[in-house]
Amino acid sequence: MIGSLLSAGVLVWLLWDEPVERRHLSLWLMAVFVTYGIRLVEWRAYCADPQRQVRGAYWARWFTAGAAVTGLIWGYMGWSFFQPTLLFLFPMALVLAGQVALSVPSVGIYWPAHVVFNLLAILPFILRNYLEEGRLFFGQSIALTVLMVACLVFARRQQATIIESIRLRFANVDLLDRLTQENHRAEQARQTAEAANAAKSRFLAAASHDLRQPLQAMFLFTHTLLESAQAGQRIDPALAGKLRSSCEGLEMLLDSLLDLSQVEAGALKVELGNTRLQPIFERIRHEFADQAAAKGLHLRLVPTVHHVLSDAPLLERMVRNLVVNALRYTEQGGILIGCRRHGDKLRIEVRDSGIGIAPEAMVRIFSAFYQVANPERDRQKGLGLGLSIVDALASQLGHRINVRSRPGKGSVFAIELSPAPQNIIGYGEAVPVNDVLRGKLVVVMDDEAQVRDAMAALLQHWGCFVVQGENAEESFAAMAAAGLTMVPSVILVDWRLREGREGYQEAKHLESHFGQAIPTLIITGDTEPEAFEQQELPVMRKPVQGFRLRAQLDYLLRTPSTEEHQADRL
Ligand code: ADP
Repeated sequence: MIGSLLSAGVLVWLLWDEPVERRHLSLWLMAVFVTYGIRLVEWRAYCADPQRQVRGAYWARWFTAGAAVTGLIWGYMGWSFFQPTLLFLFPMALVLAGQVALSVPSVGIYWPAHVVFNLLAILPFILRNYLEEGRLFFGQSIALTVLMVACLVFARRQQATIIESIRLRFANVDLLDRLTQENHRAEQARQTAEAANAAKSRFLAAASHDLRQPLQAMFLFTHTLLESAQAGQRIDPALAGKLRSSCEGLEMLLDSLLDLSQVEAGALKVELGNTRLQPIFERIRHEFADQAAAKGLHLRLVPTVHHVLSDAPLLERMVRNLVVNALRYTEQGGILIGCRRHGDKLRIEVRDSGIGIAPEAMVRIFSAFYQVANPERDRQKGLGLGLSIVDALASQLGHRINVRSRPGKGSVFAIELSPAPQNIIGYGEAVPVNDVLRGKLVVVMDDEAQVRDAMAALLQHWGCFVVQGENAEESFAAMAAAGLTMVPSVILVDWRLREGREGYQEAKHLESHFGQAIPTLIITGDTEPEAFEQQELPVMRKPVQGFRLRAQLDYLLRTPSTEEHQADRL
């Protein structure tokens, strides 16, 4: 720009005295300055545009328009100020040739702009030379035309080179980007592997942490039982019941730990089902009542009729962990377990009047191994895993955990989950109080004599008459031998019997013999669900716990419609 303005000034100075009119010259010089001024403003606007990288086409149009106006101004000079004398001719030719040649490196960055500038600036002057008489003018027009074409070609090549170098630069940037991303991915993979490794270790530690609770209770109960036995005292049935309840707790915990290991392997089968809360709450109260009493705390339940949609053993595990914490972090007052509605959801709440949690610690308590006040990592004070297990289970089950706490006042941990209908016997239903089983005839068919005996013993204990056999014929024979002629109330049958017989077929034999449908429950160790599902009979899997069997039988005997039996499977 500076070069152009200087050469415009020199030209005007040359032509000032004659032969061009001064006004004409001044106006032209002004136009030169205004045009270059506008182009300067345009350039500044371009630099200030934050979007300029993506508005390339827009700015290219402005750039070309600017080049065209400048080219026109120089072209006008070449045409209007043309003087056929050597004194003026050479300086004009020099200035115009310089303009065109210099526009290769300056405007030539964008070829279309160079083309319009080049042609508009020099063509009029070439034409004027061509129209003049004489070799000198003709030669000059030819030389300038050659220069014009050469500049066009050079500018074209230059643009190709520039585009190629820009392309290469972007290719490099892309390459760099890809490398960075690869690095990032590798780093993430490393971190994931490390986290998985750490999770493994945490899992092992968590196992020992959580197994300790019921084991502890079992040790204490057995100790007491042993001492009473040694002292020749009668064994307290309540104590034995508590021991059994702790065994169940331990079993469920082991199940859940196994499930948790499956979560890590991505293979946890969460079975959401209709889950009655009251039995879960009662078992937990049973398990922790003594521990609470030993600390002088009340452990209270708000009785609930709610059923929820959850995986019962896993849910029980979550509530248990919350109660363990509530007991651990409460020194006076008590713990309250209950469930209440919250909008269209239900909230299982474990409230305590304990030490509470400071707001700044709140976000971290669910992280594994985080403990608010155990810098010495005394294992008696827990390992900091209880809540991380609760959190992991909650995300598997699709439940939400909510915590409210006031330091010094207490905490409320809530599990938010969906309700389920209340008219189905759910997991862990307590043993029915009324005695529908008493006096009923039950047929037990299993090819394992030991299993039949154990089952018969339990059923007789509940007041049933029991006949047993490997198959339908043996059962008939047993009934005849015992002089029983009544229709059996229930058939309990293993799925696979000896000699390739199927329990379901044997049950059918019995039914056709008595000429009526008899509620049938399949008890099996097999794990091929399709086989049973085809028959649409209630199925229980071995090992079957006494209370569950009792609940299922109770249900089968209360509901006469077979379709309903089939709908419910524990
Ligand atoms: P821990 O084995 O230490 O109980 P958790 O993961 O169960 O591990 O809990 C993490 C931390 O959260 C605990 O160390 C404790 O500081 C805090 N915390 C959990 N539950 C309660 C509660 N009911 N009252 C007060 N603090 C609690």
